[in-house]
Amino acid sequence: MRNGKFQAESEGLNVVESENRGAQPLEMAGKGFCMLRVPESPIAIRALLAGARRKQAGWLDLLRRLVLTESPSDDKAAVDACAALAAAHAKALGGRVKLHRQRAFGNVLEVRFGSRAKKDAAKPILLLGHLDTVWPLGTLKQMPFRIADGRAWGPGTLDMKAGVAMAFTAVEMLLEVGGLKRELVLLLNSDEEVGSPVSRPMTERLAQECGAVYVLEPAQGLAYKTARKGTGNWRIEVKGVAAHAGVDFEKGASAIRELARVVEKVSGWTDLKRGLTVSVGLMGGGSKTNVIPAEAWAEVDVRIARKADGARIEGRFAALKPGDKRCALTVTGGINRPPMERTRGTVRLYHEARALAAELGFELPEASTGGASDGNFTSALGIPTLDGMGAVGEGAHARHESIVLEHVAPRTALLAALMAGSFGPTGVANSSAERSSRR
Ligand SMILES: [Zn+2]
Repeated sequence: MRNGKFQAESEGLNVVESENRGAQPLEMAGKGFCMLRVPESPIAIRALLAGARRKQAGWLDLLRRLVLTESPSDDKAAVDACAALAAAHAKALGGRVKLHRQRAFGNVLEVRFGSRAKKDAAKPILLLGHLDTVWPLGTLKQMPFRIADGRAWGPGTLDMKAGVAMAFTAVEMLLEVGGLKRELVLLLNSDEEVGSPVSRPMTERLAQECGAVYVLEPAQGLAYKTARKGTGNWRIEVKGVAAHAGVDFEKGASAIRELARVVEKVSGWTDLKRGLTVSVGLMGGGSKTNVIPAEAWAEVDVRIARKADGARIEGRFAALKPGDKRCALTVTGGINRPPMERTRGTVRLYHEARALAAELGFELPEASTGGASDGNFTSALGIPTLDGMGAVGEGAHARHESIVLEHVAPRTALLAALMAGSFGPTGVANSSAERSSRR
């Protein structure tokens, strides 16, 4: 990482960031991405970068407090404590805080900043994040929060407490210079890592009143994400007929053999060209080697790149029939997140971000991923959604989870510039931000 090179751990994506941080033209950075040459940047957007660097210590302190408040999705008290911490921070910044209390899952935090959007004004921007992690309580004992090798390490740093802290810092910067011209809605849920069962309707309702959605999930390598696959899960249960494998073989109907046929069949629905994958990730069955198995089950992960494939694949699962008539199949499940397709609105947001990044002195690649986020929900509603706007790092859901510190300030400045909405690609700066840069 030291010489500006970063290798994305997932999807085999290789991206290289330019080392050039000055006002000089950027050099080629990243396979398949064209070179951006920009003139000397206006002072105001540079002031945002300077502001983000000044706030780095405060940002790091907030990150530390968020990470030390462990917040597994399945521990309501723990994740509620993390939401309370974020709520207190939002309140201190002057946000209008609303805590949506939940019974089965952690509370969901909604905060509004800036003056309320008027009917004829630009719609608000939705900042979307989550406070829950996949890490159980006590993980900090083996994975303590620490700063080393230019990184911050610990459970939930990358996915996605650093992104949450970046959003707060960007908001704080804009509030200080009066640069918040558009109402901002920050929604932080506590159930994203388990599929957002209770926060989904809130996310969808808020997205519908907003003109754009910025998702604070980690970057893909160095890239913002403009497309994500949709996801589905199924469970297949087979009931067969038990019998002694030696004495009564022909009286038995093997649930395992039947399941094997079904696994082979559904796996064959994978169509890589369409971005459709069907993967049986878990299976089990039987009781003893000398018993024809009466029961077997499998769990299936499905990913779709196109919305239309959702109904098609659901139809296929519903139509599954046993090959051996003595066996019975029970098939449950469905598509739970629609794909985030690369819509025109999303591409427009990305182009705006890329131009602003160039003015900030870095190349911003674009990527797609097979993983889903809450951005899938908002994008499926037709709201332009840009994702991967949080930290750069490695090891989400893994022991080496960490974020790269040198990328935090530039990306926080970029978030602020995008939220301000008044720094066009031509560098027309907001006057109050300009004033602040001279302070
Ligand atoms: Zn996440």
